[in-house]
Amino acid sequence: MNFIKNNWFSEIQDELWPGQMFSLKIKEVLHKEKSKFQDIQIVETETYGTCLILDGIIQCTSRDEFSYQEMIGFLPLCCHPNPQKVLIVGGGDGGVAREVVKHPLVKEVHQVEIDERVVELSKKYLPSMACGFENSKLKLTIGDGFEYMKIHKEEFDVIITDSSDPIGPAVSLFQENYYKLMKNALKPGGIVCSQGGSFWLDFDYVKKTMDGCGKHFAKVAYAVTSVPSYPCGHIGFVIGSLDPNQNFSEPVTRFTKSQIDSLNLKYYTSEVHPAAFALPRWVEKHFYK
Ligand code: SAM
Repeated sequence: MNFIKNNWFSEIQDELWPGQMFSLKIKEVLHKEKSKFQDIQIVETETYGTCLILDGIIQCTSRDEFSYQEMIGFLPLCCHPNPQKVLIVGGGDGGVAREVVKHPLVKEVHQVEIDERVVELSKKYLPSMACGFENSKLKLTIGDGFEYMKIHKEEFDVIITDSSDPIGPAVSLFQENYYKLMKNALKPGGIVCSQGGSFWLDFDYVKKTMDGCGKHFAKVAYAVTSVPSYPCGHIGFVIGSLDPNQNFSEPVTRFTKSQIDSLNLKYYTSEVHPAAFALPRWVEKHFYK
């Protein structure tokens, strides 16, 4: 399917989000290819900057990416008392790595991304995100996150899954047995945080992912952020902890406003953190009953 017509890109996904679409006016198609794993497009938009599109789905735009990258990184890191060793699964644009390496307690970051072409193209066209790959704390492996998880035991304090949506190569990263593998790859008290979809669009799917997580983790929650270029302008994270006393909405590491500024955080603050876990009543009743 050609998603670009008359200089407009339209995110038409009848399977995932039937009956709706988000469109962006395009200035230029910067790159287009089919990699071993997916269809990759990078476009320059009129109002959202540079945009990475995989299999016809917007992954990030340079205008609003920080609200996603900062939140998926800092929510779990600030819930963990000592997040020294972190694993990122997916995240081929480099934006999550850029955020995670900033956290003062993080010493080592491992990342496993399935598609090296996403990394290479992000370095060329999205340098403000791909700068995450240049940090000396980061070690990048090209491979499947699901397979990688099978061979790592009690190694990480925090695992962040920044995956594409549950079609194509990312399907396995939403399944219950992925949560089981992540549990085994974590040290005691470890925390996972995954791209979990939006309650507006994926209501039952989010609940199913939370239930899958809950079979292996003592505490599970769902947090939200707003990202205008994602469907409904909204996305959430499924977060799980092995610590039965975990209270996700109280960060154990807090930052003053001047620390927030020196970390160059634009969305995450110690006040935004608890607010992200506050859910509308109809959602709360469904997710936590
Ligand atoms: N923030 C984006 C979102 O929410 O849509 C995701 C961005 S990031 C580009 C997603 C990455 O996950 C892609 O680069 C994709 O190649 C990678 N990915 C998908 N399935 C994977 C798997 N099984 N193992 C590792 N990486 C995977």
